[in-house]
Amino acid sequence: MSVLISVDNVTKYYGTRKNPIKAVGPVSLNINQGSFTVILGRSGSGKSTLLNLLCGLDKVTSGELVVGSDKLNESNSKKLAKYRSKIGIIFQFYNLLPNLNTVENVMMGSWAGGKSTSYQKAVDLLTKFNLGHRFKADVKTLSGGEKQRVAICRALIGDPEILFCDEPTGALDTSSETQVKDILAELNKSGLTIVMVTHNPEFAGIADNIINMSDGEIIDKQ
Ligand code: ADP
Ligand code: MG
Repeated sequence: MSVLISVDNVTKYYGTRKNPIKAVGPVSLNINQGSFTVILGRSGSGKSTLLNLLCGLDKVTSGELVVGSDKLNESNSKKLAKYRSKIGIIFQFYNLLPNLNTVENVMMGSWAGGKSTSYQKAVDLLTKFNLGHRFKADVKTLSGGEKQRVAICRALIGDPEILFCDEPTGALDTSSETQVKDILAELNKSGLTIVMVTHNPEFAGIADNIINMSDGEIIDKQ
């Protein structure tokens, strides 16, 4: 398998120049094309910060971070935005827009990169994830599990090269959690590279790689 994401001595500091606060680093790791990587660790261990760096939502303080042909540590905001249009991201609290209906929320996933998407493609994706009958529903009326499936559809509509997930089941009940877990496992089987932050060790069972973080550093890789 070929390396898709390469992280070399990356750090992320917050705070001020006089008073820097380390959130991550230095960390080094490689993630292969088509793999399923799970990042585990306690709250505050730097998981989200690392994921945000990999997603191009935040910039590294030092080190080298390369995804495919994109050298993120040398990218300006415009280049990072272009990079983000090639990936999908889902979050713990779904981040759906309450004033848009279900299918509009899914279509929104393609607007960021300036691409346009057919309504039918969004409906088809929702149907694939058993939400076809709710495509015009007000997202406020959906259950947590349904909202996360809408967020997954929104992440997939632009045919991403990688799906990044930050605690995607953190707010779900056990049966919705299992459903989302099965969806992610299936997507990975069909070739999608997945990088997921969780503190649910159950996900380790479906991962190819398990990264354990503590105090901003990687303390174990399997
Ligand atoms: P996790 O996702 O594992 O819970 P985070 O990556 O959110 O951890 O946070 C790692 C550390 O960085 C924490 O100490 C947190 O307080 C700090 N941190 C995260 N984001 C910021 C920020 N925007 N400004 C200052 N400190 C931050
Ligand atoms: Mg977090």
